[in-house]
Amino acid sequence: MDHRKELVKYAHLMCQKGYSVATDGNLSILLNDGSILITPAGFRKGEIDEESLVIISREGEKLYGVNEPSSEKWMHIFIYQVRDDVRAIVHAHPPYATAFSLQMPREYEPILPEMKNFIGKFGFVAFKEPGTIELAELVREKAPKYNVLILQKHGVVTYGKTLQDAFNNLERLEFEIKIRTLRELFKTKMG
Ligand code: 13P
Ligand code: ZN
Repeated sequence: MDHRKELVKYAHLMCQKGYSVATDGNLSILLNDGSILITPAGFRKGEIDEESLVIISREGEKLYGVNEPSSEKWMHIFIYQVRDDVRAIVHAHPPYATAFSLQMPREYEPILPEMKNFIGKFGFVAFKEPGTIELAELVREKAPKYNVLILQKHGVVTYGKTLQDAFNNLERLEFEIKIRTLRELFKTKMG
């Protein structure tokens, strides 16, 4: 599928699934020439269209588009820098994983077998203000070791070989934390 269409499709899906409220979240795809197709800053992801997307260089300069690139552009650029295998990134604020980020240990070993097979342990990134280079630098430190990262008091970032892989990782991560939460509920209800 054409990369612009693909990015719009998953931006809309992110909203439909409730992984982003208001203007939260951002997505990108690494293009063949090394530049990055990324969502614009401050847009509702459910209303994004192909024309609103931005292309940036790996040095962070805008190459194409009428809008400004996502405020998390450095987080995206740094992940591509340290992970040769990654060609797409999703940053979202899914409710279960975001709530879990307030209590999460330094690293999390998932319960469900699919998580262990497809993703492995979840990495934890200590709080830094959203959209800052400091947050992006902490993400750069953790990205080589983990396939998904939970950002304290903020949300998550997931990535993969394709945007579909990156999005699958986001869905799986949120599902794991949802199941973990519900397990606690059943423990209390059933003694
Ligand atoms: P952008 O709209 O600038 O991509 O920011 C959304 C966000 O989630 C910041 O962390
Ligand atoms: Zn965010």
